[in-house]
Amino acid sequence: MNLKKSLKPIKKKIQNKDKLYNTIRRVYTHLSEFSNEEILDYYHVRSLKELEMHIEHIKEVLQKQIKNYEEELEQIANCFCLDSSENFKYLYSTKKEAEEQIKFTLKTKQIKLTLYPCPFHCGWHLTKI
Ligand SMILES: [Zn+2]
Repeated sequence: MNLKKSLKPIKKKIQNKDKLYNTIRRVYTHLSEFSNEEILDYYHVRSLKELEMHIEHIKEVLQKQIKNYEEELEQIANCFCLDSSENFKYLYSTKKEAEEQIKFTLKTKQIKLTLYPCPFHCGWHLTKI
C-alpha cells in the first residue's frame, strides 16, 4: 500500500478545513485572533459542516438581497441578518444601546431578551431568551 498516496485525501481535507477558518480570519478582522473553536462558538455552530452551511446561507442571502433590495439595504446600515420571520433584524451599533433596549422591553412588555454580536459587523442584535 502506498501510504503517502492514501493520506492525500485526508491531507486535502485538513487543508480545506483550515482554508475556511483562515478566510474568515482574513475577511472579518475582528475575528483574526480567534481560534477555530472560538470561530465556531462565535457563529453559534458546533462543527465545520454547520459553519460551511451557515456561510453558504449568508452568501445566498447576500446575493438575493443585493439583487432585489439594493436601495433598501443602504438604509439598514448593511446588515443582512434575518429574524425567524425573514425580516431584517434591528442592528444596535453599541452594546450599551442594546442593553438599554433589553431593560426597556423587560419593563414595558415583560419579555426577556439577550444580545449577541452581529456576524457581519461590530454591532449587536437582540433575541428572545
Ligand atoms: Zn447583523
